Amino acid sequence: MTSPKPLFFDTHAHLDYPEFASDFPEVLARAQAAGISKMISIGTNLASSRRALELAEKFSPIFAVVGWHPSDVLEAPLDLRPELRELARHPKVVAIGETGLDYYRLPGSRGGSTADDVHYKQRQAEIFQQQLEVAAESGLNCVIHQRASFEDTLAQLKPFAGKVRGVFHCFGESIERLQQVLAIGSLVSYTGIVTFKNGQNIREAVAATPMNKFMVETDCPYLAPVPHRGKRCEPAFVREISETIAQTRKCSLEELSMATCQTAYAFFRNLDG
Ligand SMILES: [Zn+2]
Repeated sequence: MTSPKPLFFDTHAHLDYPEFASDFPEVLARAQAAGISKMISIGTNLASSRRALELAEKFSPIFAVVGWHPSDVLEAPLDLRPELRELARHPKVVAIGETGLDYYRLPGSRGGSTADDVHYKQRQAEIFQQQLEVAAESGLNCVIHQRASFEDTLAQLKPFAGKVRGVFHCFGESIERLQQVLAIGSLVSYTGIVTFKNGQNIREAVAATPMNKFMVETDCPYLAPVPHRGKRCEPAFVREISETIAQTRKCSLEELSMATCQTAYAFFRNLDG
């Protein structure tokens, strides 16, 4: 008899995106066949968060994270908290996010003014702060998106240490920055970039991360791992990502499965529900 496949979770997927509309049942079936037993669909605004929750209500392996993405803050309500608090009460909501700061393509780099940049960054900080507050009140952790904004993101999260933990998703920073994330009780998660030929720095971070301080994710439909690179990504590909991580860490898939699932259960509320 062959032993059962070690199970893995996709802790960051955008299952509500139109890329999955035409073949969702097949996507789900392939994930389950690959041993991806739980998937967390991440909201990027209120409509997307509600869609993630609808999927979670319909399919038992799916859970939802509700929140507002930093790149979309110009469309956000002035005060996101009332509606977010309401959504956060749902038993299949496992965290708040994705939230954080993203300075990668500021309005100034796209024909806007310096004042536009200041306003955009200020709105990002406000919407991030509101989500941290709701997370703290609700006893939830946060899924953190940061790009070209590491110092500011960490500084804003720091005062919440002890109340709210973050998972710095799609982690691609230095080992020194990894230590700074871990020092405030937060975690990281790794995507398919770990399989890319030019992903050597990520593999170094993976090797340096303590076994109980990281999780696995796809960020699908983006960032498909090798050998699917460039195609639509889907939760089943957590398999390839996990295999590369296990190779990099020189551990077995079983050990990796055990550690990453335990970490996810401790981080996300009700994921075992
Ligand atoms: Zn995402």
